[in-house]
Amino acid sequence: MTDRRRILLLGGTEDSRALAERLAEDDSIEVISSLAGRTEQPKALPGSLRIGGFGGVDALTRYLDEEKIDLLVDATHPFAERISQNAEAACRRGATPCLVLQRRPWQAVDGDRWVRVPDAEAAARALANGDLPRPAKRIFLTVGRQELAPFFPLLDTWFLVRMIDGPRQALPLAHCKVVLGRGPFEECGERTLMLNYGIDTLVTRNSGGEATYAKVAVARSLGLPVVMIERPPGPDQQTVDSVDAALDWIAGRL
Ligand code: NAP
Repeated sequence: MTDRRRILLLGGTEDSRALAERLAEDDSIEVISSLAGRTEQPKALPGSLRIGGFGGVDALTRYLDEEKIDLLVDATHPFAERISQNAEAACRRGATPCLVLQRRPWQAVDGDRWVRVPDAEAAARALANGDLPRPAKRIFLTVGRQELAPFFPLLDTWFLVRMIDGPRQALPLAHCKVVLGRGPFEECGERTLMLNYGIDTLVTRNSGGEATYAKVAVARSLGLPVVMIERPPGPDQQTVDSVDAALDWIAGRL
């Protein structure tokens, strides 16, 4: 079929995979999922798959033109700032319709003891300066591989670091244990992990969604402080927060 509409789906999230699966049910659409290539063994995806950076805004603009992309959906992680900015700029240049699919951030509820910070550097400073309701000595750190560096100078703190893929070399943290895991995570597993390792503080990013929320709920139930790294400002694009809403938007444009 030559007249299929082509959607470039910038992915790397559970939502992008769910959207790819739903779009693949429609024969009139060709979905091309794009991954950065950070994860060693990404889960299988329906439709076409391309892996690796495009090479910046100019290259992405060219890609959209040469590949005759009808729509772009940016379903990347809320903390993946650069690709979202590039996508926004490239779509603007080429007048390609663009939608952002992004989960809503978590909101604190009764019992939560959040210390909100703008980025990983501020989270590390809060630990180092003791800006927390109680001393933070044993930290459950779930911030993503690229955000670990600000915590390296904290020599008196013990970290339980969760990652999807193991580090290629030992992390330069003075005291740590690495556990591997990819969501979704359940509360019972998170509770066991946090109790077994005597965790007194959780440091996490406000990713939103259900797949990784269990640790936040467990921290609340155990009365533990959470250093919550808030999101960077999102792209200035039309945004939806569910796969169904993305499908509606797409149906309205094809
Ligand atoms: P980033 O800082 O915004 O992007 C850095 C560069 O990686 C981009 O400029 C782009 O390279 C390339 N890139 C990123 N996402 C891409 C995609 N989906 N397809 C093709 N190229 C992509 O992103 P990041 O924080 O490193 O995240 C990388 C990927 O991991 C994203 O797809 C994101 O959805 C996923 N992810 C990120 C996090 C997180 O915490 N940041 C968590 C879970 C999943 P060029 O400029 O060369 O095009």
